[in-house]
Amino acid sequence: MNPVNRWWRTRVLGRERQRFTPCDWEAVWGALPLLEGLSAGEGERLKDLALLFLRDKRLESARGVSLTERMRLTVALQACLPILELGLDWYGGWYAVILYPSEFVPNHEVVDEHGLVWVDDQVKSGESWERGPVILSWADVEAGTGRDGYNVVLHEMAHKLDMRDGVANGRPPLHRDMSGDAWTRELSAAYANLCERVDSGEETPLDPYATESPAEFFAVATEAFFEVPDLLQDEYPGVYAQLRAFYRQDPLARLARQG
Ligand SMILES: [Zn+2]
Repeated sequence: MNPVNRWWRTRVLGRERQRFTPCDWEAVWGALPLLEGLSAGEGERLKDLALLFLRDKRLESARGVSLTERMRLTVALQACLPILELGLDWYGGWYAVILYPSEFVPNHEVVDEHGLVWVDDQVKSGESWERGPVILSWADVEAGTGRDGYNVVLHEMAHKLDMRDGVANGRPPLHRDMSGDAWTRELSAAYANLCERVDSGEETPLDPYATESPAEFFAVATEAFFEVPDLLQDEYPGVYAQLRAFYRQDPLARLARQG
């Protein structure tokens, strides 16, 4: 980081830290078991990232949600976990997170890859627009704080990372030390396997919603990677290894440290 950036960052962080009381931090952190295995150093870096995230993105409420500082922190801390080792630049090019009170129906027009226009009227708990806002149902954010593999914030942020190269195809831009072939091989094989298991009526370890598309598979696998890494490692070790290389984090090691 160059000196000007470092100066800017220190100045911003100094000011932003004052917005939240130690009580706010403690209450929000304590209600997120997802963060339990982080080392002290990782925890401090995550808090700083969350403050910079809140400065960079406008959190807006819709349909009568009254937004509190704790809600803002709850969203920001979870949103920043995937980019803890990647940096805030990975969330560049979009500026708002909109909170709805509960599930919502977007009802907007969508143009698919064949150029067909249709109205999206599915009920959703979250949505990410390419170069647009992230929309979250607060009821689902709250319901997703248990460490059970369901986390709408991680899910939507995974879509944001996936769409950084302009397409939601379940493959974010990979790092230089990663192999695109290995990524495609591991994720495609797991996706095909999960589709088969869902089709055969099996109760699957990953949310069957993952079989909607490769993009949804990546988003659901990301939820599992951070929340229930042992389950993802047991079921799809190749996917775990690819996500560990992409996120540059090892949640399984964190889990082991926690005992
Ligand atoms: Zn999704």
